[in-house]
Amino acid sequence: MVRDMRIMLRRTPTREDYLEMVYVLIKEKGYATTIDIASHLNVKSPAVTMMMQRLDKDGFVAYEKYRGVRLTPKGERIGKFIMNRHKTISKFLRILGVDKRTAQKDTEAIEHIIDEETMSCISQFLKFTEENPKWIEKYPPFKENYEKIAKHNKKEPMASDLKYAHEMQKSHPHSQ
Ligand code: CA
Repeated sequence: MVRDMRIMLRRTPTREDYLEMVYVLIKEKGYATTIDIASHLNVKSPAVTMMMQRLDKDGFVAYEKYRGVRLTPKGERIGKFIMNRHKTISKFLRILGVDKRTAQKDTEAIEHIIDEETMSCISQFLKFTEENPKWIEKYPPFKENYEKIAKHNKKEPMASDLKYAHEMQKSHPHSQ
């Protein structure tokens, strides 16, 4: 999960991305250095230093220039929440049959704008799938069959329309 961020983030990382990265690095490696954070988020070290100072000021991390970054209890709690939210959304997309790479990319976009209600529905749905494995097992073969039929009928893929819609959104970023 740490490694993928460089390719998957197609925007400037936000404070949430930084805190999540600090959390994940500390959980996986035991520490988070400015260089590690910069490399995984594909930003320059001074940007990391600036953001760490901000996160320090807001009480999420304890940052000392030459000693690295530690999480405060608040940073630990919110970092854990951000990471779990990421996992939940990505798991949901994987259950829908989205491939790993796309699921990762879309999770990076969805997680920052998702409404509390949607998030809660996704969590409940995941619990439901865990408790009803027989029900969800029917989905992959259904999906496969549906795709076969669509291919056979030469149904137009929606890719080009979707690309067009994305371009429209980009040119009017405030219209959402
Ligand atoms: Ca994320």
